[in-house]
Amino acid sequence: MITMESLAARAIQRETPSRAEALAVLSDQFALLDVVAAVARVRRHYFGHRVKLNTIINMKSGLCLEDCFYCSQRLGSASDVLKYSWISPDEVADVADRAVRVGAKRVCLVASGRGPSDRDIGRVVESIDAIRGKQPEAEICVCLGLLKDGQAARLREAGAYAYSHNLNTSEGNYADICTTHTFADRVDTVRKAGAEGLSPCSGAIFGMGESDEDIVDLAFGLKELDPDSVPVNFLIPFEGTPLGGNWELTPERCLRILALFRLIFPDVEVRLAGGREIHLRGMQSLALHLANSVFLGDYLTSEGQPGAEDLRMIADAGFTVEGIDEPTLPKARHDLVALRRRGAGTDQPANT
Ligand code: SF4
Repeated sequence: MITMESLAARAIQRETPSRAEALAVLSDQFALLDVVAAVARVRRHYFGHRVKLNTIINMKSGLCLEDCFYCSQRLGSASDVLKYSWISPDEVADVADRAVRVGAKRVCLVASGRGPSDRDIGRVVESIDAIRGKQPEAEICVCLGLLKDGQAARLREAGAYAYSHNLNTSEGNYADICTTHTFADRVDTVRKAGAEGLSPCSGAIFGMGESDEDIVDLAFGLKELDPDSVPVNFLIPFEGTPLGGNWELTPERCLRILALFRLIFPDVEVRLAGGREIHLRGMQSLALHLANSVFLGDYLTSEGQPGAEDLRMIADAGFTVEGIDEPTLPKARHDLVALRRRGAGTDQPANT
């Protein structure tokens, strides 16, 4: 008989649950607090009580020609979001500097659009240089959409540490959330980034009509890509987007999803990302027992809870903010990333 304790003990041994076990975690087969208590042991085993803070800098907003149904920056969006072209490298560096000074370890540089032109990559390289001038140790992650050949290498050579590109939903559900690119396009970009030595960051958005089976398909699909960090977003249903009325998540559903991701990615950075405040509400502290990383403050086009409140919540829940010199990933995974960055072949995801 499956028990939560046995699933957690096996996750500590890095044994992936079966599909049936994964579905059981999402169902009401186990009481919610039993799920959280068991899976919290996995989180503590690999990450102790540390919480890693991340910040997003939106370098270019709106004006996108893609039609992702969840996104307020999509083609024809009626959402009330800021629309602007690239901010300057100095502005990017100033924002990054402020975020790092209050504890952010990773700086995520994001731009709207299907993918960058080579000129755009040049702009981002300048921004990375500017950040390095102020915060040489910051982990710089870049998120620019679908990559063309050669672009990941340019970003890595410029000093980017990671590339972020979410799969968002299962392959089976993908056509229901976007018609202008495919699940396979997204997989291709995550692989390109990893193959060029960037630390792959790829996660999901939940609350977009997905079934339990879709959630499990997506989690296993992500696992095949061997990401170093996995952001878990909960849909912010922006008015003016096709998913604007989708309020289908409950705090319990969010916690079960996070628990499942911790079981499937026991030693990987699982990041509590967009939508945590509106969907987890008073249960955010419990989520810290499952995720080991959070986005601080505001997200791309919406305001999160103020940074000081996040820091107080983390302290109140008994966690500490990871310092700039403390490793986030377990040592084995740091070695893996170091190998990737040196371009070694054997550590690439199996199917790249
Ligand atoms: S998610 Fe990215 S590609 Fe999709 S509409 Fe939004 S900005 Fe464009």
